[in-house]
Amino acid sequence: MSAEQVVGRFAPSPTGPLHFGSLIAAVGSFCLARQAGGRWLLRMEDLDAPRVVPGAADDILFTLDKLGLHWDGEIIWQSRRNDAYQAAVEMLRDKGLIFDCACSRKEILASAPHPGEEGPVYPGTCRPGLAAGRKPRALRIIVPDKQVCFTDGVFGPIQQVLSKAVGDFVLHRADGMFAYQLAVVVDDAASGVNQVVRGADLLSSTPRQIFLYACLGSPVPEYTHLPLLTDRQGKKISKRHGAIGLEPAVNPSALIVRALELLGQVVPEKINESPPIELLEWACQNIDRQRIPAGDQGLVFDDFPV
Ligand SMILES: [Zn+2]
Repeated sequence: MSAEQVVGRFAPSPTGPLHFGSLIAAVGSFCLARQAGGRWLLRMEDLDAPRVVPGAADDILFTLDKLGLHWDGEIIWQSRRNDAYQAAVEMLRDKGLIFDCACSRKEILASAPHPGEEGPVYPGTCRPGLAAGRKPRALRIIVPDKQVCFTDGVFGPIQQVLSKAVGDFVLHRADGMFAYQLAVVVDDAASGVNQVVRGADLLSSTPRQIFLYACLGSPVPEYTHLPLLTDRQGKKISKRHGAIGLEPAVNPSALIVRALELLGQVVPEKINESPPIELLEWACQNIDRQRIPAGDQGLVFDDFPV
């Protein structure tokens, strides 16, 4: 590590109340940033307006506050940052890295050579230019055939060849919204985030984001992905199936202890009923990244802690 101050962050989507999977990401990112003497920022990923639930952002902020997860500085709202995303797109356009795409999802599905982990791999149809009469729908970035490599703090060395895994990917969507991959990189770079700790559902997005950092000329953060919650059958627990809203007023300490335990930490019995602030103080000093379980099993979670 250099002498540069660590800047971590937590970036929930206000599509519902904070659920336990998000709490794990919040606790993990908070403790690892604070352990390094760093700042911990909060960003609301409310870019996808139709998915935003009114009141959910306030609900998340209330829960974080109750749990003692206090962030530094102003909250960043993605919905207010279109100018920054547009500026990044223009920069990439000036570098000749983006092109208009006229393909519908159906056309891509029909022509994709094989479905990738992230859906159909874009076959490059519009890269040489739009055929006569075709209307631009989305903007895509040209990806190289090279491998993108990084070492994750929990999952270890990861490699991906973007052209094989996803193909030229979307930066500006047909519905007029900027793509998540672009927004997250532009926001983290603008905030000076250099430590990204988040759920492993974003592990396969990371090579695309590292590539975007390079294209935009920004330094790449270090990444730690936390295993996802699963049920006993290994199925991911998400907001969609089996939403777990938090009731922080009921027993906030139990929630923090449970999150730390799922992250492989051993909370001493003598403090496990302490107020959340004290538990987090202990955790910020003692969290051990080596103990965070990796592997495909995820974190088995079938009993709610309160
Ligand atoms: Zn196309």
